[in-house]
Amino acid sequence: MDTKSAPKPVVAKHPEVVEAMHENPWHQAMEQLDRAGKAMKLEPFALERLRHCKRILTVSVPVKMDDGSVKVFEGYRIQHNMDRGPAKGGIRYHPSVSLDEVKALSFWMTMKCAVVNLPYGGAKGGIICDPKKMSRGELERMTRRYTAEISIIIGPDKDIPAPDVNTNAEVMAWIMDTYSMTIGYSCPGVVTGKPIEIGGSLGRNEATGRGVFYVTRELAQREGFDLRKATVVVQGFGNVGSNAANIFVEHGTKVVGISDVGGGLYDPKGLDLHDIMEYRKTHDSIAGYPKAEKVDVDKVIELPCDILIPAAMEGTITKHNADKIKAKYVIEGANGPTTNDADKILFAKGITVVPDILANAGGVTVSYFEWVQDMQAYFWSEKDINARLQDIIVGAFTEVYDLSKKEKIDMRMGAFMVGLRRLGKAATIRGMFP
Ligand code: GLU
Repeated sequence: MDTKSAPKPVVAKHPEVVEAMHENPWHQAMEQLDRAGKAMKLEPFALERLRHCKRILTVSVPVKMDDGSVKVFEGYRIQHNMDRGPAKGGIRYHPSVSLDEVKALSFWMTMKCAVVNLPYGGAKGGIICDPKKMSRGELERMTRRYTAEISIIIGPDKDIPAPDVNTNAEVMAWIMDTYSMTIGYSCPGVVTGKPIEIGGSLGRNEATGRGVFYVTRELAQREGFDLRKATVVVQGFGNVGSNAANIFVEHGTKVVGISDVGGGLYDPKGLDLHDIMEYRKTHDSIAGYPKAEKVDVDKVIELPCDILIPAAMEGTITKHNADKIKAKYVIEGANGPTTNDADKILFAKGITVVPDILANAGGVTVSYFEWVQDMQAYFWSEKDINARLQDIIVGAFTEVYDLSKKEKIDMRMGAFMVGLRRLGKAATIRGMFP
């Protein structure tokens, strides 16, 4: 067993370097794994294997830019674990993508699929690029070349990509088309989050936000608070944040604060999301919307509210701001938004955190439904999809919540234990080759 590449203890002396290394998402993820693995006495062989990604593919992606020049982007596809089924996870386009970030995200996908008991392992992909500065043509060429480069490891039985930060149904259509062209027949099951017309699933677009709502509603029932009297702040207004916010409003909960990369908005009486979305159609960002109080992007998570939904990037709730959070509940719409130091502060303050690997699992759950529908070429109604999604999310929530109460641990630990139990069993039953 190769233990040489396991994360090394932090040895740097300079405090800023120590902090940066410590807050590296892969280190954070491994700390979470170690903590839970040790507490539940996970089989050492399973724990050791989960500390390593199964396959890491780095590709260079040459793209002819609109001005005739050629730019080469760096991309990754990482399969963390496939013990319970094909690898599954999104692809993100962002300037801050890094190998360690994608490794952490692929690990969290393994955990997420295990927590909600989908027959999948975990994967993630990413390209270091700034999609906001690229034309649609450049994005399409980059996506198609990246797909060709990673086509040696993806496939409907092997590894199934999906949308993530800055990728959407259109990007998934390019991936599906490129992959299908190279194998010679249409293969809808190679990717999820596609447009409905080419084998996408009803309800997939809203699924992550819907899952966020279902766990919050379940939490409200268990903790005895009335969701119609609660206030919500959503940090990040992409697919997860905007859908979650809209679903809360549909169910009578007031959304008092939101933000996107450009800025934040606050109105204690409740924001008019419909009006804000209309405003955003003609402006790059929600920032500048005139009918609400402006809030600094970094201060949005500190707004007064009952429920805070971080739905942007990882590492936004840190030891520097965790103490300023006023919400009683944090529902992680994003992957890895809370650092481990911040987690401890929130726990000590009595704030309940519903962790990412449970709270945002609605997306991959409906991805699973999409894949099943593609494989059977038989499509379900949206009512069916939402009912099955609710069953899975509520079931997983109940398991994690009850375990965390029984063991007097936070819900992240509870979710890790539920997921690791399944992963440990799968690893042990399969044994090791050769
Ligand atoms: N990117 C989403 C996530 O982080 C969805 C992944 C998928 O549907 O495969 O869960």
